[in-house]
Amino acid sequence: MSATTHQDTRSQRAIKLESKYGAHNYHPLPVVLERGEGVFLWDVEGKRYYDFLSAYSAVNQGHCHPKIIEALTAQAQKLTLTSRAFYNDVLGEYEEYAAQYFGYDKLLPMNTGAEAVETAMKLARKWGYKVKGIPRDQARIIVCAGNFHGRTISIISASVDPDARADYGPYTPGIDVIPYDNLPALQRALEHPHVAAFLVEPIQGEAGVMVPRDGFLKEAYAACRERNVLFMADEVQTGLARTGKLLACDHEGVRPDVLILGKALSGGVLPISAVLADDGIMLTIKPGEHGSTFGGFPLAGRVAMAALQVIKDEHLAANAEKLGHVFRKEMQKLVDEFGWVDLVRGKGLLNAVIIEPRKDGRTAWELCMLLAEHGLLAKPTHNDIIRFAPPLVITREQLDECIAIIHKCVRAFA
Ligand code: PLP
Repeated sequence: MSATTHQDTRSQRAIKLESKYGAHNYHPLPVVLERGEGVFLWDVEGKRYYDFLSAYSAVNQGHCHPKIIEALTAQAQKLTLTSRAFYNDVLGEYEEYAAQYFGYDKLLPMNTGAEAVETAMKLARKWGYKVKGIPRDQARIIVCAGNFHGRTISIISASVDPDARADYGPYTPGIDVIPYDNLPALQRALEHPHVAAFLVEPIQGEAGVMVPRDGFLKEAYAACRERNVLFMADEVQTGLARTGKLLACDHEGVRPDVLILGKALSGGVLPISAVLADDGIMLTIKPGEHGSTFGGFPLAGRVAMAALQVIKDEHLAANAEKLGHVFRKEMQKLVDEFGWVDLVRGKGLLNAVIIEPRKDGRTAWELCMLLAEHGLLAKPTHNDIIRFAPPLVITREQLDECIAIIHKCVRAFA
């Protein structure tokens, strides 16, 4: 029997098809999108929305940025994939561009964020054995509770989220979990002589935009240095201008030993991720020991260079910094007025508001549905948190319009 009927709207049809033929590993808001441009998305019925998720901060440059699409289409007509069995005429140019852009000796190209994190974990272990002198198979990596680094087996081995972990064991050994934003706990964990690396999100995005206290990253970096442990920053979500600086670590003047990037490295056009490090770390991985068929493919190189150039040319970090202050100030008014709007926190244009469940059982989910009705798309996380992360190309006028929508919806929700 067909999954859909003639009476179904296009939205209903798309939702039913996904439900019948797709794995049920997501729970999306019931909005079916077909077009995007800048800060806007349109659904299949032609309704326009402000995008306040930006594909989990992958679309910092705005949907279908013309310069990035131009790079994509030009290269797509020439050469897309060679594999790394051969050289291609783009990769070296991209690696030079990105290495100089971020100030590292070298870049290792991968595809998804999770793959980049896995790469960093492997790099840490290799460095641990070859440089630090950790006995074979004894290397440890310190991670933080509340982390989200992706979905692979090793990464969920570092997770404390029961949804991510339960029924997916056995887990990868050699991972120590400490509380986030807790320097004494880090210092204790660093006492173990076999620690190779500390893997940390400068702001925990998926946990609900958890911002550590000022100074934590700097002190954590110094503690790692003292113990000859690599400081590895997962900037997959926080990086690339999202928090008001190019990297969230820049807020504290910290230069990670290993920098992990993804998402907006392509402006949301392709899965492109990367790990950056200096020679003493990166060159511990030898030919044949790590890679990916698509990692560093010519299409990715051109797209990533265009995406990074847009961030610079359009001053996206400065825009995020400036408009972030406006946004949090306006959200604070709601916190002050409504007891159940608990808290606003964030940096730049990565912000979250906590919505306590209402007495009648309505939660952040219903508020997001109301926002969608009024033309603004945001997604709840952990039941009571709404993350607000628009594309960084948003203008002051557009932001003001969005703030008005949020104020109106919160009032209606009350
Ligand atoms: N690291 C962080 C901090 C993330 O937020 C995410 C995704 O949300 C990932 C890694 C995983 O990236 P991907 O979904 O591309 O594998």
